[in-house]
Amino acid sequence: MNTVAIIGAGVSGLSMANYLEKNNIDYHLYERRKKDDLKGHGFILPKEGIEYLSNIIDINELYERGSFLKKYIHYNHIGEILSEKDLEDVFVVSRSSLIEILSKNIPSDKITYEKTLNLQGFSPEGKAEIQFDDRSVLDADVIVASDGSRSRIRRNIFEDEIMKAVLENEVVNIIENEELASQIESNFLKFHHENGGLTFGVLKLSSTKILWYCQFDITRFFINEDYTPDCIRQFMMDHFGNWNPLVSSIIEGSSYENAHIWRVYELEKLNPFHYNNVVFIGDSAHPLIPFTSQGVTSALKDSYILTNLLMEEENIQDAFIKYENERKPEIETHIKNGRTLLDQFLLPLDQQPKNTLPISYK
Ligand SMILES: Cc1cc2nc3c(=O)[nH]c(=O)nc-3n(C[C@H](O)[C@H](O)[C@H](O)COP(=O)(O)OP(=O)(O)OC[C@H]3O[C@@H](n4cnc5c(N)ncnc54)[C@H](O)[C@@H]3O)c2cc1C
Repeated sequence: MNTVAIIGAGVSGLSMANYLEKNNIDYHLYERRKKDDLKGHGFILPKEGIEYLSNIIDINELYERGSFLKKYIHYNHIGEILSEKDLEDVFVVSRSSLIEILSKNIPSDKITYEKTLNLQGFSPEGKAEIQFDDRSVLDADVIVASDGSRSRIRRNIFEDEIMKAVLENEVVNIIENEELASQIESNFLKFHHENGGLTFGVLKLSSTKILWYCQFDITRFFINEDYTPDCIRQFMMDHFGNWNPLVSSIIEGSSYENAHIWRVYELEKLNPFHYNNVVFIGDSAHPLIPFTSQGVTSALKDSYILTNLLMEEENIQDAFIKYENERKPEIETHIKNGRTLLDQFLLPLDQQPKNTLPISYK
């Protein structure tokens, strides 16, 4: 097998590196952030994601860092229960924990941090010319682009693509507060405003940690674009301060130092998942809106399937074509489901279908 360069050490790049490592395929992983810069939100993982992860990590370590969710409980904003559903092996974990666990199996000489790579063009033979910031050149036979939803490599190749702002944005926060955590069982609680377009979700990560997030319709609710902790606190107090006491106590009792605002984008139309010797995985191939909760699982499946095809197929192009054929239909289903969940979220509560799950299934 030829040499593989992976660009971006998020969940997709790290899982790809894990699979290549396991199968003794030569690779190197490049990441622009610092090694210990692990900020980020949390992930809800369906059962399938856990199954793929158990191929490459010590799954007990994951279980120690997050928790299984027993039920999904859907409330209105004053705290009346609208519906309840049992969840089958749905897990929640912080992004930083998952990244840390996935990084463990990668030997230190196979991953370089603080390196940003850029695509300069293609050689006459069609090989991608990738440069580091210092203008030195990367030499690899296969380029796996795992550089996230706003992938520069993808935008350089598919110049006509259209990235659209999604009508929903999110504030996500992880807080350490034993007293608040003790008030929440291992359930997924989601509160919806009766006018639609505004929700608050709470998940317990451990006996001392809570992950909370709010989703808001960007045409109706506006956050000061300085995005400072004070601005985010003010936004939360203005819009959730008079909700059910559990919600208001969480937003009042939270520190906002690590709160993050996510502006969500999606591709109007998916691009091909490969071009010459470059192949895209995870969000760089297919940004999925958060409503699906399928971003991580899809990234894990991309890496698993691509690695197997790179081993099976003599020709890289055949591997890439089969990879795209296998992955695209499922991704299109998640995109469609995500858009349906988004449309429902924007409606007043009494017009939303009852008993929907906050996740996309195939
Ligand atoms: C608000 C929000 C909530 C979400 N909730 C969930 C959820 O509950 N469940 C779920 O499954 N998914 C969720 N997702 C989606 C999930 O975050 C992604 O699908 C998943 O993390 C896969 O990401 P990735 O590795 O492809 O990209 P990223 O995590 O974006 O990683 C890309 C990496 O590439 C690096 N990079 C970028 N450019 C370069 C370059 N030029 N050179 C070198 N390195 C570079 C970046 O620093 C980064 O580390 C959510 C997303 C958002 C925004």
